[in-house]
Amino acid sequence: MNVADSELVEGLLQNQGYSPSQSLETADVIFVNTCSIREHAEEKVHSQLGRYHLIKKRKPEVLIGVLGCMAQSLKDDILENKPFVDIVLGPDSYRKLPEFLNRKQTIRNNQVDTKLSKFEVYDDLFPSRREGINAWISIMRGCDKFCTFCIVPFTRGRERSRSVEGIVREAKQALDEGFVEITLLGQNVNSYSHEGNDFHDLLEAVAKVHGIKRIRYTSPHPQDMTDPLLDVMASHQNICNSIHLPLQSGSDHVLKRMNRTYGKSHFIDLAQRIREKLPRVGISTDIIVGFPGETEKDFLETIDVMKTLRFDSAFQFKYSPRRGTKASEYEDQVPEKEKQSRLAEIIELQKLHTLERNETFVGSVEPVLVEKESKRSTTQWAGRTDSNKWVIFDKGNTSLKEIVPVEIKEAKGVSLHGKCIKKSEAA
Ligand code: SAH
Ligand code: SF4
Repeated sequence: MNVADSELVEGLLQNQGYSPSQSLETADVIFVNTCSIREHAEEKVHSQLGRYHLIKKRKPEVLIGVLGCMAQSLKDDILENKPFVDIVLGPDSYRKLPEFLNRKQTIRNNQVDTKLSKFEVYDDLFPSRREGINAWISIMRGCDKFCTFCIVPFTRGRERSRSVEGIVREAKQALDEGFVEITLLGQNVNSYSHEGNDFHDLLEAVAKVHGIKRIRYTSPHPQDMTDPLLDVMASHQNICNSIHLPLQSGSDHVLKRMNRTYGKSHFIDLAQRIREKLPRVGISTDIIVGFPGETEKDFLETIDVMKTLRFDSAFQFKYSPRRGTKASEYEDQVPEKEKQSRLAEIIELQKLHTLERNETFVGSVEPVLVEKESKRSTTQWAGRTDSNKWVIFDKGNTSLKEIVPVEIKEAKGVSLHGKCIKKSEAA
């Protein structure tokens, strides 16, 4: 989401005649686009700001800006303690950027706008994307779900969706710029709703744009996974056979306190229904351990769901209390040591499951989109299956952005190794 927002900001800056600088040292303006989701993300921003402060001391004319989710919470701290920050803009205020930059040349006070909007979706702004394979397209902003651990509803405000036409227009533009894959983005993509169109209507409209090789989306909420959505996925070859389905916890007691609006058995049934409708689908998830009040028994329920479903991959986190959220006020916080050991345990378990799921691909031929050179060797490509697994294979006569058939030979670590069986052009 932040990459997509940064591209939006870069587009705005380019319209003002700015261009990317080669290094921080030579920049006239420096922005940090911030994330508040966990404490670790915020710590990184503080250390970046420390670096920028040093630059400002050497070069007082450089303008420094803080954008995004931390703008709101940092606002007072910045005004009081960080006078070297010139501009503070929340996620709904990026349009103010040109005005602030122009004004800043005459006024030396900090300029701040962290108001959240019920309407801003930046439908008419085009992001500036670096050349690549995948174009992120933001389809909705904000979140109304208010999970008790999550800061997003506070930092990004109310849910609102862009028009289908605006999104399709942006997809076509990305295609013209050479992108072959589109990822539709939102905090809750499947609560997308615009003038009677639901998420599955939008997905279908994008799937029909001629020339898009692959479409992905993230993140859907389990509560809003519908049969029509699965049907649209099943009926369009260019919609990837992959779903990110965040579990968070396997314990009904914890899920209830998280305000996740589903229980353990509902989640398991849903994942199984998805696998029935979309055979060989890749299912990834998010898991939080050490949520307040999570007992050993609750934790074992999470392990149980993991063992029952065997996710293809997972992002796993220690619960991180966020100021202003309901769960941060719960009195039964779990000790850090406990969180750490639970996290280590599920990371190990997931590694086994990933390997096990990947091994079921050995012997099959998968369509793989060639995305980049392998880190290990200049003679090999790395690309993904449509179920979102990385595959490494010899380059042979294939080129970037092509979808090629790869016979999977081995599952190693978190990736697959294979052999491209594309017929040579001459044959
Ligand atoms: N909208 C998505 C998630 C967006 S945030 C959903 O509802 O599933 C991405 C992930 O960050 C979440 O799924 C959650 O696992 C994690 N996360 C959010 N807040 C967190 C917190 N306070 N502590 C730890 N992990 C958190
Ligand atoms: Fe946060 Fe996702 Fe819950 Fe919204 S649905 S509050 S973004 S975790």
